[in-house]
Amino acid sequence: MSEKNMETLAKELLFNPEYPTDKNKALLDEASAFCEGYKAFLNAGKTEREVAAYSEKMLIEAGYQKFDDAASYKAGDKIYFINRNKCVVAATIGSESMEKGFRLSIAHIDSPRLDLKPNPLYEKAHFSMLQTHYYGGIRKYQWATMPLAIHGVFCKANGETVNVCVGEDENDPVFCITDLLPHLSGEQNERKLADGIKGEELNLIIGSESVTDETVKEGVKLNTMILLNQKYGIVERDFIRAEIEIVPAGKARDVGFDRALIGAYGQDDRVEAYPALIAEINTKNPAFTTVCVLTDKEETGSQGVTGMQSAYAFHFLDQLCHMQGADVIRAYQNSKCLSADVTAAYDPNWESAFEPMNGTYAGRGVAFAKYTGARGKGGTSDANAELVTYFTDLCDQANVTWQLGEMGRIDLGGGGTIAMYVANRGIDTLDVGVPVLSMHSPFELTHKVDILMLYKTLVAFNNAKA
Ligand code: MN
Ligand code: MN
Repeated sequence: MSEKNMETLAKELLFNPEYPTDKNKALLDEASAFCEGYKAFLNAGKTEREVAAYSEKMLIEAGYQKFDDAASYKAGDKIYFINRNKCVVAATIGSESMEKGFRLSIAHIDSPRLDLKPNPLYEKAHFSMLQTHYYGGIRKYQWATMPLAIHGVFCKANGETVNVCVGEDENDPVFCITDLLPHLSGEQNERKLADGIKGEELNLIIGSESVTDETVKEGVKLNTMILLNQKYGIVERDFIRAEIEIVPAGKARDVGFDRALIGAYGQDDRVEAYPALIAEINTKNPAFTTVCVLTDKEETGSQGVTGMQSAYAFHFLDQLCHMQGADVIRAYQNSKCLSADVTAAYDPNWESAFEPMNGTYAGRGVAFAKYTGARGKGGTSDANAELVTYFTDLCDQANVTWQLGEMGRIDLGGGGTIAMYVANRGIDTLDVGVPVLSMHSPFELTHKVDILMLYKTLVAFNNAKA
């Protein structure tokens, strides 16, 4: 065979994944434009409650009506509901019967962080401090010596709920967890990295000034409580009825001279939630009813009334079926779901944690995962090859650059997603997402083009005719 034939054959037979912007620079402009809305979404929502509230505003502006289980809806109608201020469910009614199945796009809007303990406030060494209990899988040493913000709600005895958000406005104070100076870190340096800072050492400084009355026992604590009472009308006991989250202060930023990356807290999993929500909002008159679920509690195992293991989202599907007199089992059997969550991006600084042939790379397109899990695929929802084919074909037809890989080296660890909680109901589900560098850290990195490709995947899925 001639050399040219071999070249042709190599092109036809071998698989060489590409970075789409290497050949199409306009793509980065398109992605950057899309991601301006994403950055605003990140800045407006650093807790599941804030994301739910901001999403509800977007849905109402887009003409969505609050779901009424006694009403009946026609093709093209857009409806939504919010589950206990923490989960968003939005749908567009399809022209086909519910029995033909739903098109589900699911993501989670809780992120790893530090929650307050129920009795958090104390005074020590003339500081007022808050005790925290971390939420989700954080690397604890990453959360010290950086500006932190306080977000959340106090539910007062009179039934009133007070929102708190301090540390985000540039005129706000911020808060901080301290770490030892290197000069005195001799003992701490002997600890394992995982214990570099321990859970009980994640205590937040929130004040250092006392009331002037010297007869008061804990003047700094009282002074802080006076300030909190003036601002929020709360007393110390109200911490028990609060949900307060400590998160990194500051806004989402472009990263790199070419501005192709986004750096921000909470991208797991809002980097999927935003494209899923926008794809749902932009879906007009779909064949199949589209349902976008932005759920809570993924980072702690999806249990509880706002987690994906709860029935709340499935109750909604059932109610839509009942409304049409459609068979629920048939509807589930004919449904498809994209479970959108981040995966690890291959990290040039930590190559030994990855396996290059099966890594997913930032900038190489949306990343599918046939399976997740850990150590022998434990705890995974392993999608059928036929389903992988359905979605990758859909992407090829929509000119979407995709990749498919694993999280990292097999025996190091792994992770799961909420895919299994939908798949367990008998709904075909595939994992998809954006690769992230420094996942679960206070400053996660993603590539704008991957975010755009995820959005395009979800649009193609919502508008598919089969
Ligand atoms: Mn996630
Ligand atoms: Mn996570």
